[in-house]
Amino acid sequence: MPKKYHIHPKAAPIDLEYVFKFKIVRGENCINCGKCTKVCIYEAHRRRKDDPRRMAHPNTVVCRNCFRCIQECPRGALEKSIDENFSGVGGAFWKPDMLISLWKQAEDGKVPVSGAGYRGPFTGTGFDSMWTDMSEIVRPTRDGIHGREYISTSVDLGRRLNHLVFDAEGRLVSEVPHTVDLPIPILFDAPLADLSSNVKLALVKAAAEIGTCVIMPAADITPEFAEYGNSIIPRLVPAEIDTYRALVERARLVDIEYSDAVLDDLPHLKEEIRKISDALAIILVPAAKDVEDIVARLAHSGADIIHIVADYCGQELSASAGSERRLLKDIIRAVHLRLVEDRIRDEITLVASGGIGMAEHVPKAMLCGADLTAVDIPLMIALGARIHEEPEALLVLPEGLAKVPPQILTQRIVNLMGAWHSQILEVMGAMGIREARRLRGESGRAIFFEEIDRDTFGKLFKKNREAVNK
Ligand code: SF4
Ligand code: SF4
Repeated sequence: MPKKYHIHPKAAPIDLEYVFKFKIVRGENCINCGKCTKVCIYEAHRRRKDDPRRMAHPNTVVCRNCFRCIQECPRGALEKSIDENFSGVGGAFWKPDMLISLWKQAEDGKVPVSGAGYRGPFTGTGFDSMWTDMSEIVRPTRDGIHGREYISTSVDLGRRLNHLVFDAEGRLVSEVPHTVDLPIPILFDAPLADLSSNVKLALVKAAAEIGTCVIMPAADITPEFAEYGNSIIPRLVPAEIDTYRALVERARLVDIEYSDAVLDDLPHLKEEIRKISDALAIILVPAAKDVEDIVARLAHSGADIIHIVADYCGQELSASAGSERRLLKDIIRAVHLRLVEDRIRDEITLVASGGIGMAEHVPKAMLCGADLTAVDIPLMIALGARIHEEPEALLVLPEGLAKVPPQILTQRIVNLMGAWHSQILEVMGAMGIREARRLRGESGRAIFFEEIDRDTFGKLFKKNREAVNK
């Protein structure tokens, strides 16, 4: 049995301005008795390092809202209230609770607990309107994070052969294309924000530590990242290949922005890269209205890996006026089905990104037809960033972030990915799927709200509508 892939989380709190749902305040009547340190199993209460006689500020980020410390404080010195900034962050997609959950996961790498007492809705839009078939969940000791059986989250990127050809003596004649293996179906996509050097270094080091790669604009890759060249995917346009020759030489993958010229000249482009290194080209295609056509044409022209990118809320880009924008779930399904119809789906790798905001979005995107995903904004949220959807998309990095040591930021990203990996294992274990590669396009193992709603109530409401119209 192969050695189990494991991500090593470690508590990595940072003292920056977070937004919390609830805020705990320790009043002046606290007598520093320390009882709250004993009753809070999440260690939200600690003594000050510089003066252990006194209590430190409560670490609200790890609080699970059990209210035990409030009840047990002999002086009634602790107070919990809704943070006035809470409802001002996020928006319709990046809900404030989602940001807080991501912060918590980055803090300690633990799987968030939200099942008991959950009072939220059971359906919504996008990935919230699909559920995975967890019919194998009756075997928790055998599967999942703590299971004895091995569940592989590895995926490979590259061209795959449709079939193998052997000669009369049974020798393999087909030339098997080179692929890149990743232990987790997640690439990092560095957001196009103005990132300080410690944040960029943290992204690169975290990618290297968990065995994945980070996509970064080639111009941002400075010599200090040279030792991590294997974990960096330079993003460039074809005309820059020679300029960034040294980066291409070290890289396993190169990200090329789509243009008509790329489509017309794909074999030549691949040849240019091949002269420098074994790196495989990922063609980045914006998820606009015609994305299925472009992806199909690229696949037929010899593209190995295609990366479709929706907007930061997982919506189609540039929809025509008055038409509804498709969501990432539907875009991936449309692209996947188009490639299946064209009988070329098995040959290429499809990466999906834009609006991958929670761990569950990864297996769901794969069930819709992606081979793997790329994440961007959650990596920044792990470092304490906030996003404001209204009045405009705004990613706000916390003040003082540029001064936080990169090793702490690295650990926070590793923690977030550790928590996501555990959740992916839980989903796969509950579905009875042992290999992440087998998730791809298994839409029969998912339930889509729109479909069951139509099947269950469609006829009924159609009849009612007809009666009203008579
Ligand atoms: S239990 Fe109350 S009085 Fe004691 S240290 Fe905690 S907050 Fe202060
Ligand atoms: S409310 Fe519960 S989880 Fe939160 S700090 Fe108090 S004891 Fe800890």
